[in-house]
Amino acid sequence: MFRPLWIEVDLKALRDNFNAIRKSLRPNVKIIATIKQQAYGHGLIPVARELSFLNVDCFGVGSIEEAVMLRENGFKRPILTISAILPEYVNEIPRYKITPTIADLSFAKKLNNAAAKLNIKVPVHVKIDTGMGRLGLYYKEAYGFIRELKHLKAVNVEGIYTHFPSADTDPDFTNFQINIFNKFILRLKREGITFKYHHCANSLGVANYPHSHFNIVRPGLILYGIKPSNETPLDLKPVLSLRSKVIFIKKIKKGMSVSYGRTFVADKPLNMATVSIGYADGYPWALSNNAKTIIGENFFNLVGRVCMDHVMVNLGNNRDIKVAEEVILIGERNGLMITAEEVANWAKTIPYEIVSRLSLKIPRLYKNASEKHLDFLKTQP
Ligand SMILES: *Cc1c(COP(=O)(O)O)cnc(C)c1O
Repeated sequence: MFRPLWIEVDLKALRDNFNAIRKSLRPNVKIIATIKQQAYGHGLIPVARELSFLNVDCFGVGSIEEAVMLRENGFKRPILTISAILPEYVNEIPRYKITPTIADLSFAKKLNNAAAKLNIKVPVHVKIDTGMGRLGLYYKEAYGFIRELKHLKAVNVEGIYTHFPSADTDPDFTNFQINIFNKFILRLKREGITFKYHHCANSLGVANYPHSHFNIVRPGLILYGIKPSNETPLDLKPVLSLRSKVIFIKKIKKGMSVSYGRTFVADKPLNMATVSIGYADGYPWALSNNAKTIIGENFFNLVGRVCMDHVMVNLGNNRDIKVAEEVILIGERNGLMITAEEVANWAKTIPYEIVSRLSLKIPRLYKNASEKHLDFLKTQP
């Protein structure tokens, strides 16, 4: 690692968050850990492994690729793909023991045929749309579909779910969705159609809507210690920290400018550090002239535009900071802290985007793995 840029992933914080989530649920409520997009940038396999050792019930992934990666790394737990799969890939579903999301009858029939040929029964979860407008059948149109599904012999309709678009900003609409979902399940129950799992709670559902828990929940963001809103009551610890180093120091005279577009012009002499991170690493260009870093014992402001692989930091009259000094972009040291939520605010985006877009080229260093995890790694060739 010659370029000083890395991500530290604190697996103890992950365990603590998972345990805090579990404690906040009724004892019989299971957990689907949402680990799509490389576990929101934290790294799919190490995160999944740590959660496996905590007996997570199921993994929620976004693609067949992620499911395959888990299977090829030896994971045996159920894997729910929470996206839609193209019909031409139905054979991969039984092959990798994937639990797909189903919202289309012709897809379901194709899957049924593929499973019947193998003489197996494939578990599926049905997705109904109660207001997200993304995947799933609109709930009013879903009754007939579900009755038909129940006739397919090689498909086991194990779960039914829906998703919240605005649980942070619109509790009325969210409660309306929970209500619809409840009624939908009840109406089917009266017809003798039941499901092993009912779910709708994402992180906000877990944290703020206890009546949305049903018997399984799908948290993502809060696993990683990031709050989806300011009113998240759970006690969470950030898992990810983004670190770089000062690679150059120079004096800037009054009137000199820094970086592209010359958007920063020094109004007095200052010391300036060049730091090895840029927008190609996933550190947003929108942070130009608008972010804090931690170097040594203090916060220092980023100045000028973010470049492809550099940013510049105003050290003011500080002369103690030298080349090779560590720079924290996200993380904590000696009581100083920069959270992904803050970085998202500065960049006018959401913390989901900040962590999930951190380049996969950046090495991830895993700290505080559990004993079981370490023992497991020791037995690997
Ligand atoms: C991403 C996702 C989740 C997890 O959402 P968080 O807000 O990160 O908890 C849950 N369900 C579905 C369908 C998702 O796409």
